[in-house]
Amino acid sequence: MFGKTQRQRPRKTVVIKRIAADGIITFSKTWHPNEAILVLQGKSDRKNNQIIVESLVIPPFTSNGPFFSGFSMHNLPFDSSYIGTAHSHPGPSNRPSLEDLNHFFGLVSVIIHHPYEYDTIGAYDRNGDGMEIEISD
Ligand SMILES: [Zn+2]
Repeated sequence: MFGKTQRQRPRKTVVIKRIAADGIITFSKTWHPNEAILVLQGKSDRKNNQIIVESLVIPPFTSNGPFFSGFSMHNLPFDSSYIGTAHSHPGPSNRPSLEDLNHFFGLVSVIIHHPYEYDTIGAYDRNGDGMEIEISD
């Protein structure tokens, strides 16, 4: 036995480039009171335990109805730079819904809620656990 070494899960940070964060905000405001969805492009920096969101892709099609019904990641060409999705909640919470988790794609789910400001952005992993967010220039 080597003592009480605890296996601690390292905390992950999601670094969102300001230009991408601004894009999420603008897109969400445009779609309000409907939900908006975007695909996140960037990279995973395992060494520093960071996920870096560099740019946004508008999915090839989205439905105007209930958000995820007409949208599938299978409609996207395969691209390893797709690291997750961002979507908006017109309500007061950025917590992922069960449906959000069921449709989880990639490494991170970024959710922004009304009124769509930097501090209403949340980021969650596959289990629905919150991650730190850093907006960077
Ligand atoms: Zn949602």
